[in-house]
Amino acid sequence: MTKFVFDFAEGDRDQKDLLGGKGANLAEMTNLGLPVPPGFTITTEACRAYLAHGDEPAGMAREVSDHLAALERAMGRTLGDADDPLLVSVRSGAKFSMPGMMETVLNVGLNDTSVEGLARQAGDERFAWDSYRRLVQMFGATVLDIPAERFADALDDAKRAKGTKDDLDLDADDCRTLVDTYKGVVRDGTGRDFPQDPREQMDLAVRAVFSSWNSPRANVYRRQERIPADLGTAVSVCSMVFGNLGMDSGTGVAFTRDPSSGARGVYGDYLQNAQGEDVVAGIRNTLALAELERIDKTSYDQLIEIMTTLENHYRDLCDIEFTIERGKLWMLQTRVGKRTAAAAFTVATQLIDEGLIDADEALQRVTGAQLANLMFPRFDRDAEKELLTTGMNASPGAAVGAVVFDSRTAVRRAKAGEKVLLVRRETNPDDLDGMIAAEGVLTSRGGRTSHAAVVARGMGKTAVCGAEELEVDVKAKKITTDDGREVVEGDILSIDGTDGGVYLGEVPVVPSPVMTYFEGELDPDSDRADDLVRAVHRIMTHADASRRLRVRVNADTGDDAARARRFGAQGIGLCRTEHMFLGDRRELVEAVVLAETRDEREKSLAALLPLQIEDFTAILRAMEGLPVTIRLLDPPLHEFLPDLTELTVKVAIAQERGEDTTSDEELLTAVRRLHEQNPMLGLRGVRLGIAVPGLFAMQVRAITRAAATLAAEGVSVDPEIMVPLVGAVQELQAINAEIAEITSEPESQVDGKTVPYAVGTMIELPRAAITAAQIAESAEFFSFGTNDLTQTTWGFSRDDVESSFFSAYLETGIFGASPFESIDVEGVGYLVELATREGRKTRPDIQLGICGEHGGDPESVHFFHQAGLDYVSCSPFRIPIARLEAGRASGTAADD
Ligand code: ADP
Ligand code: MG
Ligand code: MG
Repeated sequence: MTKFVFDFAEGDRDQKDLLGGKGANLAEMTNLGLPVPPGFTITTEACRAYLAHGDEPAGMAREVSDHLAALERAMGRTLGDADDPLLVSVRSGAKFSMPGMMETVLNVGLNDTSVEGLARQAGDERFAWDSYRRLVQMFGATVLDIPAERFADALDDAKRAKGTKDDLDLDADDCRTLVDTYKGVVRDGTGRDFPQDPREQMDLAVRAVFSSWNSPRANVYRRQERIPADLGTAVSVCSMVFGNLGMDSGTGVAFTRDPSSGARGVYGDYLQNAQGEDVVAGIRNTLALAELERIDKTSYDQLIEIMTTLENHYRDLCDIEFTIERGKLWMLQTRVGKRTAAAAFTVATQLIDEGLIDADEALQRVTGAQLANLMFPRFDRDAEKELLTTGMNASPGAAVGAVVFDSRTAVRRAKAGEKVLLVRRETNPDDLDGMIAAEGVLTSRGGRTSHAAVVARGMGKTAVCGAEELEVDVKAKKITTDDGREVVEGDILSIDGTDGGVYLGEVPVVPSPVMTYFEGELDPDSDRADDLVRAVHRIMTHADASRRLRVRVNADTGDDAARARRFGAQGIGLCRTEHMFLGDRRELVEAVVLAETRDEREKSLAALLPLQIEDFTAILRAMEGLPVTIRLLDPPLHEFLPDLTELTVKVAIAQERGEDTTSDEELLTAVRRLHEQNPMLGLRGVRLGIAVPGLFAMQVRAITRAAATLAAEGVSVDPEIMVPLVGAVQELQAINAEIAEITSEPESQVDGKTVPYAVGTMIELPRAAITAAQIAESAEFFSFGTNDLTQTTWGFSRDDVESSFFSAYLETGIFGASPFESIDVEGVGYLVELATREGRKTRPDIQLGICGEHGGDPESVHFFHQAGLDYVSCSPFRIPIARLEAGRASGTAADD
């Protein structure tokens, strides 16, 4: 029989799949002997069954009863007992943390009688009624689906009647009245009374938590974070401890290091006389955790000790939730804490130095996406700027945008191409869409652990939180400062998530130090380098030492090639030659296309030859000593001619005016002749080389002559000639024969010997992949052109599909991610593996690489590593990311 319920003492941290992150870590802490209130966890498996069948799986209710009975025995109290009630929280917790996305209900077990019992036991009426009103509020909103504002409004009314803004000023009678009001809200909203039976409360809450897995906001979050939609959530039932029992009680959150910078120290927020979400909700302003030392030194010292225990045990930065009940500390949650990209790198290297992890492990603790984040520009420190205010530096980065005050406007304006900043008093999960759309988030309430801060850090989005001098009026859509300055919707602000600065207008940005380091302009060992640059350098060095995949660049100019070398490129994987045919050279190319005889064409090609020699000389020189893969001309020729419609109109007008149109008419005829219904599948690539004699020959001549000249100068060169769009070995044989003739020309030789070169092909048609064994007879290397291979495998024309139906495909989950961003492993990836296998059968030392955009995509890099390729090639700025991910791919246990 499947077991659906586990006591906290039965599980451990490796059971996240089954117990959810929260449940697994509660179990781990229990077994570490930390003070965790006892409880049990209902599995994700039970949730999946419930969601699939609309009912709890057989046997679950029995198990829950048994575990509840055991809990009651252990606590010496019964759930909802009239004299001395056991109360529990019913908490959601999925495998991956989804902060604030799902529901938790506290104080379950309170009703009209047990509230009196609780008051007597605690000797505190106010506390008992405050807890009861929280239960009705949370239960009403999350279990009974009553709009949360109805309760919030009633609470506001009660405070207004009392002439206060602080919850704490409401006394026992006020709370009692509020419970009555809330019960009325429940009756109005659902047509029934608030359930008094404790077990019924618990069962309904469990189901509500199960169902919250499928709430719209949880779905949005999962898509954003690429969390699978079918995992389900576990439910932890945890005996209550109370932070709202007076000023010697309280609740807090803490990080074992600064989640923003990675600096060591005590980071967190604490709130006296408060329960649960009061801290993160930003309802009252919190105290810095360090203040707890003054308030309750015993609990503080114990907390610090537990934090050290947790760090040593998890060997990582942890975040925790705790509650102090009348001077006794309770641990309510821990997990390996979310952190900024900068903190990820610094913490990983600190942990090496502290002997907690080794360099291989450190490499697994950072990601290419985080590195990309660190390469973004930041604000220019020296620029003149007008400071509006300073808040908390909640999530780093530099964001500039037009101020908007609600999620919907943020989404609308961002869709229209505008950069926006979402400004709120505090955010809640309903603001998620707006946060995704915005460049950054600014709030006037809440600290580093507020919803806005946690979510923004998770998304790598800039955030400044708790800018208290700002009065944010969401209804009137304006911000007012203490000194009376106003900012209205649409005004531009700049926010600095690294130091918390908020500036009026647009502040200019400068390159990040990490970028300057990659550019080779910042020595990581010098005093100018900060901890972050040093950490990045250390981890990159280890990634380079660990990786098997080489990393090349896609570059077509000497400048790009030079930058790529600084970034660590080990060659050029794709040098496109089409841009070399534009600009002033267009006329020469037009002449090639329009030539009527072979002689005419040869003449125009001869004029192009010296220019191409210059192009290739610059690139081969910049990449001295490294391989350079040059792709022969790929796009259809009409791309170099004027547009058909424009030219037709031009000729028609000229004829109308009686002007001489002979040359334009000739051109028009050619354009018509070359016009294709579907150019992507038309006369291009190797087909051009065969149909337009002399074209590829000119390019090959230019490559080999450039190489010969440089070699004669003593420059070491390693050219690789790449033939695009091959589908059959016969095509390649035809081109190879032409190449062999050219390379025996004296200009392509030094001292009577041809400069060594390689000839290979792109694999970008399914037929090429399928017949790779044959093609390898004539190819010394394959380069997977995964952009085209994705187009031709799926039958997608990228430019057409991305704008028309891709969003629908992503929304309905047909794709997890666009196959143009992250390689489609089962389809396109299969062809890559097939061609790799077949190619190596024919030619064991065949060189295999990839030059599509996937070469810089972290997940794809891991796939290419596993597929056994020799290198990936990507755009210059993604080289560091590919280096890092290639290192990480080598280190993962899976393929060792
Ligand atoms: P979330 O995932 O949103 O943090 P939690 O299940 O952790 O949800 O609970 C919400 C809040 O209630 C947290 O602040 C948590 O510490 C607090 N809480 C949960 N269970 C208990 C409990 N048994 N006693 C006291 N506080 C609790
Ligand atoms: Mg929590
Ligand atoms: Mg291509």
